[in-house]
Formats: sequence, C-alpha cells, structure tokens
Amino acid sequence: MLITTENITCPACEKQRQIEIYPSVNVTLNPEFKEPLMTGELFDHPCPECGHPTRVMYNILYHDMEKRLMVQMAQPDEIEKYEAEFAHHKVLLKLSKSEDYNVRYVPDLGSLITTVNAFDHDLDDRIVNVILFMIWSDYISEGREIEDGYLIEHEGELLYIFFDDKGDHLLNRFPQEAYDELVEKIEFDHDGNHSLIDMEWISQHTVNG
Ligand SMILES: [Zn+2]
Repeated sequence: MLITTENITCPACEKQRQIEIYPSVNVTLNPEFKEPLMTGELFDHPCPECGHPTRVMYNILYHDMEKRLMVQMAQPDEIEKYEAEFAHHKVLLKLSKSEDYNVRYVPDLGSLITTVNAFDHDLDDRIVNVILFMIWSDYISEGREIEDGYLIEHEGELLYIFFDDKGDHLLNRFPQEAYDELVEKIEFDHDGNHSLIDMEWISQHTVNG
C-alpha cells in the first residue's frame, strides 16, 4: 500500500483540506480496499464543511497477488510512462516470476472494474472487452448516446451496465454463450505483453471475427 496526501479545495465553499490518496492498492494484503475501489467510493471525498460531493480521480495500481493481476489505471497519455517504468523495475529487480503476472493498463475506472470482474470470474478480459464494445456499438447504431459501460457483478450475476447521455442506465446479462463462441473464434497473439485494450486493439483482433 502506498499512501500519499493531496491538498484539495472544495469547489462549493472553497475550504482547503488534505485528503489521502492511494497510488497503489494491494487487495490481497488490504482486502478492505477492494469494495470502495470497485464502487468508486474510494475516490469520493465529500466536503466535511458543506457536504459538497467531490470525486478526486488519480492514477492507481490495483494489485491482486492471488490472481497474479496488476491493473494500472492511468491517464491515456501516461500509460506509456507506466509501461516503461514497469519494464524497468522488472529488469532492475530481476522479477523473473513476474513473467506469468497479468499486467494491464487501463484508461479509466470502468475499464479497471471490467478487468477485475473478468479475472475474478476467470474470464478472458480481452473477450469480455470485445463483447462490451459489440453491445456498445449496437446501442450507437440504434442512435443511443452511450457515455460509459463496464462489467459489474450484481447479486451474484454478471451484467454489462451502460450509461447514456440522459443519465439512464441499461443492463445486459453477460452473454455466456457468445463468450464461449468467441473464446473458440478469436486467436490472440501470445506475445504475453499486450496492454491497453481499446477499440483499436479490438478492431485489429476481430477483423475476421
Ligand atoms: Zn465545502
């Protein structure tokens, strides 16, 4: 666990205060951090003076030692920097064991939640993302403006949740059959070093899909 502090100013009452931020969270050693991270609550800092809700997002590393999973959430333009740092540390510390670690870089909280839920359910996160973008594209072709979408677990069920521009949410049951079909169909490069999964990556890997 890495804990630092940051000074913030309440946008409503302009009161300044210090908050704790967590650039690195190990959910195996500190499991109490998992739920607030997955709900986004970890980033919520309501003002103690006036109660104004404030969400402070920052780059964060999610580390699950049991799943051998590291997910670095970072601003898209900073992802390369994190990739380089990780490669550097690997060399420096001779982390040969990290070779079978699953390392992912994601640009936002929704992608982090999707990745963690995929690994928690022993699903291939790449295929989970392919399906996410397929459903997303369907909504767009129906003329809906979707602003965010990710995989959640709700009352033991896996669901894709999408949010449109009107603040409504749309739920889709995780299509297990379609997933199983795609597992058969999509061949991934086994370079073991892919990182950011976005629309570009998906279109490259599903051209004949
Ligand atoms: Zn305030």
